Amino acid sequence: MIVIMAKESSPAELEGVKNRIESHPGLRPQVFDGVERIVVGVLGSIPPDLKDEIELLPGVIEVVPISKPYKLASREFHPDNSRVVVNGVVIGGPEPVIMAGPCSVEDEEQMVSTAKAVKAAGAQILRGGAFKPRSSPYSFRGMGIEGLELLKTAKQETGLPIITEVMAVEDVETVAKYADILQIGARNMQNYNLLDAVGELKKPVMVKRGLAASYEEWLLAAEYVMAGGNDQVILCERGVRGFEQFTRFTMDVAAIPVIQRLSHLPIVADPSHSTGKWYLVTPVALAAVAAGAHGLLIEVHPNPDIAKCDGPQSLTFANFSALMEQVHAVAGVRKVPAQV
Ligand code: PEP
Ligand code: MN
Repeated sequence: MIVIMAKESSPAELEGVKNRIESHPGLRPQVFDGVERIVVGVLGSIPPDLKDEIELLPGVIEVVPISKPYKLASREFHPDNSRVVVNGVVIGGPEPVIMAGPCSVEDEEQMVSTAKAVKAAGAQILRGGAFKPRSSPYSFRGMGIEGLELLKTAKQETGLPIITEVMAVEDVETVAKYADILQIGARNMQNYNLLDAVGELKKPVMVKRGLAASYEEWLLAAEYVMAGGNDQVILCERGVRGFEQFTRFTMDVAAIPVIQRLSHLPIVADPSHSTGKWYLVTPVALAAVAAGAHGLLIEVHPNPDIAKCDGPQSLTFANFSALMEQVHAVAGVRKVPAQV
């Protein structure tokens, strides 16, 4: 349920609404101060008469029940698109935002050269994994804090903000010192303690879709982060498990318009992990942009043949530049509805 209040409501009126919500055991108010109105989300199991009770309070314009199990992430709660702003870069606006870089941070030369190349080609955000979730415990699992330091160096050299994955609750504080966006990987999408932990941050969080997660499960993962008070959430479609073995996962392009219908959160696409093959990255990236994606997450490596992780799906600098030209061409002709 959401309580819509006039923007000019007095602090006492807002307090009155919050107190009334809190007077019901198990209910919690969450206030979002919008441009045109104040919205108070009521979190918890809603008693039947609450709507009538709250509608009478001063300052309240309307009380709207939310039918979806995810509330704060739903389009019902927030009819306009949300925008997440990272160092001046707007994710969720009409222009697709490109996040690019290697799968894993390997060394300074690799990181800085990639950062410079992707920036020159038009990427606005630098990716690189320092804590790597790997299917095999014997694979390269990332450089950890040393990797975060190299991301910092690459940021200092280029000015590009950083997106990097956090895998464990105990690393959230450290990763948040380096990252401009914290990434929750597909395998951790239902790690509820981790979602709670990043929900306490005041920093953007990108929640990748779990390998076999439904839209509802995915949006509920976003809801965890938002219920903690962090409304800077971005979603990322990265392919789901299907029966086909040729591609690494199966890119669900329809997820992009579906999520835009169900939620106000920005959604980006990852054609690298979904396909697993470098020559499929560009066509799938273009399909995602045409479908309305607010951005792309793309793996780029100076020398994919010797990459410590995900070389087969990584683009060379030249291929990334070629992709960028086409992305802008497709983005130029699409019409992303401001509101679905
Ligand atoms: C990644 O983006 O580095 C990654 C591991 O992706 P995913 O969690 O989608 O597999
Ligand atoms: Mn990877």
